[in-house]
Amino acid sequence: MLTAALLCFPLTACSDGGKAAHEYASPTVTAADGSTYELPVSKLYPVDYSGLEADYIASVCSAAGAEYTEENADSICFGENIFGIGLASVVYFGKYASRLDTSEWKKLAEIAASPADFASALTGGRAPDGISPQAMYASRIPDSAYFDAMVEEIVRDMTAQRNCAREKAFELLYSEGVTIETPFSPSMQAAVDKVYTDQSSFSDTSDSFPQSACAVTDMDGSVIALAAGNRGNTAYNRAYRTLHPIGSSIKPLSVYTPALTRGLISFSSIVSDEPTMNEGTPQAWPRNYNRVYDGDITVTYALRQSKNTVPVRLVTELGGENCLSFMRSELGFTTLTDKDADTSAMALGYLDRGVSMTELAAAYSIFGRQGAYSAPRFYTRVTDKNGNVLAKSDGEQRQAISSADAWIMNRLLYYNISKDDGIAMSARLDDGSEVIGKTGTVDNDSGSDTDRLFVGLTPEYCAAVWIGYDDASVIDHTEYKLPASIWKRIMELADRKVSSFTPDPDVVTAEYCTESGGLAGSGCTDTETGYYRSGALPYPCDKH
Ligand SMILES: [Zn+2]
Repeated sequence: MLTAALLCFPLTACSDGGKAAHEYASPTVTAADGSTYELPVSKLYPVDYSGLEADYIASVCSAAGAEYTEENADSICFGENIFGIGLASVVYFGKYASRLDTSEWKKLAEIAASPADFASALTGGRAPDGISPQAMYASRIPDSAYFDAMVEEIVRDMTAQRNCAREKAFELLYSEGVTIETPFSPSMQAAVDKVYTDQSSFSDTSDSFPQSACAVTDMDGSVIALAAGNRGNTAYNRAYRTLHPIGSSIKPLSVYTPALTRGLISFSSIVSDEPTMNEGTPQAWPRNYNRVYDGDITVTYALRQSKNTVPVRLVTELGGENCLSFMRSELGFTTLTDKDADTSAMALGYLDRGVSMTELAAAYSIFGRQGAYSAPRFYTRVTDKNGNVLAKSDGEQRQAISSADAWIMNRLLYYNISKDDGIAMSARLDDGSEVIGKTGTVDNDSGSDTDRLFVGLTPEYCAAVWIGYDDASVIDHTEYKLPASIWKRIMELADRKVSSFTPDPDVVTAEYCTESGGLAGSGCTDTETGYYRSGALPYPCDKH
């Protein structure tokens, strides 16, 4: 999948427009299992040079200060992570090199002479004249969403830790003898790739099948594998760079966790499943997905039926600002906006800009790691040829919620899958290993679905799966259980050793009455096991 290439020849530096030469070389990436990769610096988009005019190639090579050879043409730096004429054509003009016109070849030579001048087009800024706006979104390291994200994180950290410009960080990274240590898991990536290249995973073979993305973390807070797109379409890094609305997947993070930590709810306390805006308004709001309202229900039932009414009521009590603040400061979401303090954003996941699958998986990980949050980490250390540290990532750590609350949330999310009325039961693993998780669905103004998600954990991994179109088209023709079934396929292929989550010693269990939510007595006919903080058991059932 990755092109191995080690290239060392002087080219015009990206940063200073031709004043000094810089040698670009492939950094060596060491994965978690000790295997190594060369970060690709060549032939990302193969070019058939026999069909191109030699004069064009020569002028581009010359502008870059390189001799005219096909190998050089494949290796010229056109900006951050853009090596070679083939990739540069796709990134800057949205077409293959064979389709460039004369003016575009001239522009390509200009870029090769002074890549830094075109940097703004690549970082979302204003594109210089003659540059295709779509170019900004083209993948810079095709076929490897993980390494794309890893390089972005390294360059970001390097600029902060070494107080240097992005161009300088990029030069340092691609210097000879650089080594990158990563938590990347080749075996988990192979499992993800297998599922994403097998179209039977998507149970639909129509040409219009939607896109998908997936981010997998381990319980150390490291990102270990990514899928950027379905059917080999990695034009966008949908797991890391693209943001998505997440629907009901937001509820455990923005609503149930803060409501639990603030004592508003317990595992089985009674909440009202009735619309809030039914007096004096034309329509009941919010609607539950199945249009069924059950009146007084327990918290666990509200969550596993993914009720919309209950989160709306809880956000109203908590205050949308407080929910938003919790997600930003404790759960590490960096792309939420102030508009997301709105009730429909915090209760139902209709977000202003959305979140990445990477940050979503990192946030859910707290339920499997005793409430501790760790910022998603793609590398641990970058060193130069002399062993000097160029950048390091310790993974920002904090105790987001107490270990006891994390365990109560863990069990609430477990019932989503383990109970037969749980909405996410299709994520159950065949070997009986415990799974916790939550589905999510986003619909448009006409009520048609546009995005579907599942975020789930095993005791060792957390993975967030998204399905939808890049342009938010309707996906009503696909099965609603699909994200959970893709998640399940990945985890069934994954190397798993632990089958149960570890209980928290400060949480006690007790049977509760499903009708009243109180401690079950001898007269209660329908009971389930609840999880409560020590000394905070519910009152005895008052209905039987
Ligand atoms: Zn009872």
